Amino acid sequence: MPVTIAIVGAGPSGFYAAEALARAAVDCRIDIIERLPAPYGLIRYGVAPDHEKTKKVTRSFERTAGHERVGYYGNVELGRDLTLEELRGLYDAVVVATGAPLDRPLGIPGSDKAGVYGAAAFVGWYNGHPDFRDLDPRLDSPGVAIIGNGNVALDVARILAKTPEELSSTDLPDYAAEALRRAPIVELNLFGRRGPVQAKWANVELREMGHLADCLPVVDPAQLPESIADGLSERDRRLQEKNLATLRGFAGLEAGKQRKRVYFSFYAKPLEVLGGGRVEALRLERTRVEAGRAVGTGETFEVPCGLVVSSIGYRAEPIEGLPFDEGAGAVINRDGRVAGGLYVIGWAKRGPIGVISSNKPDGVTLARQITGDIDQGRKPGGPALERLLAGRGARWVGFADWKTIEAAEVAAAPPGAPRRKLIGVDDMLAVLDAAAGPPGGAG
Ligand code: NAP
Repeated sequence: MPVTIAIVGAGPSGFYAAEALARAAVDCRIDIIERLPAPYGLIRYGVAPDHEKTKKVTRSFERTAGHERVGYYGNVELGRDLTLEELRGLYDAVVVATGAPLDRPLGIPGSDKAGVYGAAAFVGWYNGHPDFRDLDPRLDSPGVAIIGNGNVALDVARILAKTPEELSSTDLPDYAAEALRRAPIVELNLFGRRGPVQAKWANVELREMGHLADCLPVVDPAQLPESIADGLSERDRRLQEKNLATLRGFAGLEAGKQRKRVYFSFYAKPLEVLGGGRVEALRLERTRVEAGRAVGTGETFEVPCGLVVSSIGYRAEPIEGLPFDEGAGAVINRDGRVAGGLYVIGWAKRGPIGVISSNKPDGVTLARQITGDIDQGRKPGGPALERLLAGRGARWVGFADWKTIEAAEVAAAPPGAPRRKLIGVDDMLAVLDAAAGPPGGAG
């Protein structure tokens, strides 16, 4: 009997785990269970809409989904359709690959005011995630504050800075394209609590900020150090040198006809969101970096803004039955092992660190662990899952169904765009109903 393995979550970590398990020497059967009908998680709903090339990795995920050992159950949610305990009763191994979909809280006074959003929500909104389609962010002021110096902060800044023409070849949903087109934003402030060399940007992302059609990057040269500290790894030194050179290039740029400005502001720690019911300004404190940490100097300043996006990292979502480390925002585990037959991978395991491909070696390690721990299949897997779901009236979506939904998205794409995403789960299921034709009908 094959070893049955359920992977919860069809994002990059789930698919890399499935790929490695599909190649394992042990006979196994892998089912990927995903809350939404659409697979790919962070690739579909996190990667910036103007980074279509990054999404090409889904082609290899698609090959994995087509592997004879691999099954797909979309539109099945742990906690709604079945519990983790039930799933563990059906499969020899369960792998939690649910990522880190929640925002780390900003936790300063006023951060609950209207107009303050976490990046997970804001990115989800412009990426057409069904949970965030109705976010309706306040885009009616000229000033924006983005908190954090990571790649997600740059994604947010770029999407807010780009012109409708620059965004026209993306899969941005119509509602977001229209809201961004109407937004009077001209001043974007990107705040880092530490200095430019501590910023976590990839250099390629940073350089993109210098190639925007209608937005000028502005850097205060006085905030850029002359040199980089000793004692860094070769890799970190090279990254910091590149980022510093790019920022020096920005500092030397002449203003042209650009309507918008993105201000890179370092040594600035947010203290309070100001305003009545909604955000009107952000108060920050100047910092200096001591032993790698941001230390407040007592000097404060305010920046007017109608929108604050807090891009300070993500957290995993606690799941009933899984031990959870609130501080780290991740599942408690020992190198991916949680309990007998229960594993975790990706951002749910190690926190929101690393790029998409970082999950590939993790998948190989996990496959080795599972096939080492469990030598023989004992639990029924897919057929029993289907019986349980059918008994509860739950409607699951197979991978062929997803391909039908995807084909409808591609067919509806405006010229030059890769797809027009179907946003609501109901909209996706309606495509399947239409393809199936009327009950009892010839179509
Ligand atoms: P990140 O890289 O960890 O950056 C988070 C930023 O928030 C850091 O600058 C951090 O500053 C700051 N921060 C944290 N807590 C703060 C606080 N309380 N107040 C002010 N600032 C605070 O996280 P991310 O940007 O969300 O990215 C997550 C992962 O996805 C990263 O591994 C990233 O590289 C990856 N990603 C990659 C791409 C790409 O390759 N194109 C695109 C998007 C995301 P400190 O450094 O001082 O803590």
